[in-house]
Amino acid sequence: MKEKQSKKAPRPGLPELLAPAGSFEKMVTAIHYGADAVYLGGPAYGLRARAGTFDEPAMAAAVAYAHARRVPVYVTVNIFAHNDDLAGLPDYLRSLQALEVDAIIVADPGVLALATEIVPHLPVHLSTQANVTNVNAARFWSRQGVRRLNLARELSLQEIRALRRGCDAELEVFVHGALCISYSGRCLLSHYLTGRDANRGSCAQPCRFRYALVEQTRPELHYPIEEDRHGAYILNAKDLCLLARLPELVAAGVDALKIEGRMRSLFYVGSVVRVYRAALDYLQTLDDSDWRQPERLVLPPELTDEIIRTGTRELTENFIDGPPGPTEMLYDRSRAEQPYEPVAVVRELASLPLVEVRNPLVVGDSIEYMHRRTVHTSPARIEALFDEAWQPLQRANPGSRVYLSLAEPLPGVAVEGLFRRRKG
Ligand code: SF4
Repeated sequence: MKEKQSKKAPRPGLPELLAPAGSFEKMVTAIHYGADAVYLGGPAYGLRARAGTFDEPAMAAAVAYAHARRVPVYVTVNIFAHNDDLAGLPDYLRSLQALEVDAIIVADPGVLALATEIVPHLPVHLSTQANVTNVNAARFWSRQGVRRLNLARELSLQEIRALRRGCDAELEVFVHGALCISYSGRCLLSHYLTGRDANRGSCAQPCRFRYALVEQTRPELHYPIEEDRHGAYILNAKDLCLLARLPELVAAGVDALKIEGRMRSLFYVGSVVRVYRAALDYLQTLDDSDWRQPERLVLPPELTDEIIRTGTRELTENFIDGPPGPTEMLYDRSRAEQPYEPVAVVRELASLPLVEVRNPLVVGDSIEYMHRRTVHTSPARIEALFDEAWQPLQRANPGSRVYLSLAEPLPGVAVEGLFRRRKG
């Protein structure tokens, strides 16, 4: 194939912001905070068997909700199938087509072949598990009828640009979320240590475990490996964050930016989508002269500050400037730092906002409202709480729904918006 001209234009169009939907509720939050598209999984054939999955009625409801807001829905069918898995797949693919999902995400050539035969008009996106790392691979999948390629996470910006020049398929790049210590999809650690197969949707994430040293002839003795007082998490990669590189990715002609995290919380998904939406909205305001040197474009610092508040295992740009080194690993802990916690989701707007409580709320608490299409938050103090029968409360527990009276008026509060609180 003749190399096509670079898409690099003075003012490039913005890529789609693609968010994870581990549940209907998380999908609603992702859309509220600015996702252009969402991806989710059914109970079988996806790689997050233990994440919230959608059965057929739930998927129908999700598609109806998203389509009413012009948001496409992509469904993961990215299992590495064994022969036995293929038996029920034709019916499942037909049901996805009948539900009018916008694309399926596949990794296995056998699944792709079946989809091409059974549902030829259903667009196919290639999963990152297929590890597209070069132009020939991209062209190969494109010739098989794949509309979009989610590229391997192990690519530099230079390689992404070369792929853009060398193939016609839509290109999608992971920009945020957890990373595997292995090439995505090439990991047997979980199966070996726990019997849960990462390539069949059940990864137990043993790369986040804390390991010890054992001498061969004394298996009963476990010697701690001490990086510091926290121990050693020798396989634990930091989280990916390409926020600062969005201008270069946009200028490179990437078609979609994907956020990882179907297993993450509603609060995490909303918070991360919000920052990337604000970043893309900011880039939209720039003019042609700004785009002449995208590598010099710097996002407003409040965006970078805000991404830290979403809760991370520290951040890395991974392969974007070349292979990462030891500093891209997080050896002393595996849990994400969470400086904020969610306290409430707005469910209705009456004379006062009716909220669903996520962490205990007490009269007098200081909280913040997270506005959308900006990383601005409004501080607020709880003046009074009322239950749904309008009886006053001093405290509201998680799971309850209460009316929230704030000390000052708070313009901009919207249904599905989130309140958060800084942890003490
Ligand atoms: S064990 Fe870790 S590296 Fe392996 S597939 Fe699971 S998350 Fe990825």
